[in-house]
Amino acid sequence: MGEPVDFRDEIRTIISSIGEDPEREGLAKTPDRVQKAFRFLTQGYTQNADRLLNDALFSVCYDEMVIIKDIDMFSLCEHHLLPFFGKAHVAYIPDGKVLGLSKVPRLVDMFARRLQVQERLTVEIAQCIDEKVAPRGVGVVIEAMHFCMIMRGVEKQNSVAVTSCMLGAFREQQQTREEFLSLIKQKHTGLG
Ligand SMILES: [Zn+2]
Repeated sequence: MGEPVDFRDEIRTIISSIGEDPEREGLAKTPDRVQKAFRFLTQGYTQNADRLLNDALFSVCYDEMVIIKDIDMFSLCEHHLLPFFGKAHVAYIPDGKVLGLSKVPRLVDMFARRLQVQERLTVEIAQCIDEKVAPRGVGVVIEAMHFCMIMRGVEKQNSVAVTSCMLGAFREQQQTREEFLSLIKQKHTGLG
């Protein structure tokens, strides 16, 4: 247990350690800016699903697939602290309960605004919906580009990583899975 770490002092240390002068004009306020940016980009740690989904579960007689696709997603790779970003596609088949539509992007944000790997982000979104909405099935696909890949090595500049998590009916029924995958292909992502 040392002294509490001052985030801005740590950023000043990083700036010095790469051979820059943290006191020069352009960098003097950088530690404050970085602190603000990191607070925003990691605010998912201060949120939880129960609070976020509070009052947003509705009983309905609807048992067709609900799809929210092309959700803009920005996260930070936990291996390099560099951004990865792209689109998330979320689908589920209700079993008596649906989620307010606007809550799905907010759920994606909550998990994305933490230090992540894309695979875990995908699974966490799917498992959260599975747990809170108890649907017949849930599927999540994320397509993303990683700065830690695209900024290093020309041949990787256009590579998009695709991850998916299929639970319940989406895992068990090929037809359900294919319906979801074909519906999210009807688009252009602007990626790649
Ligand atoms: Zn990385």
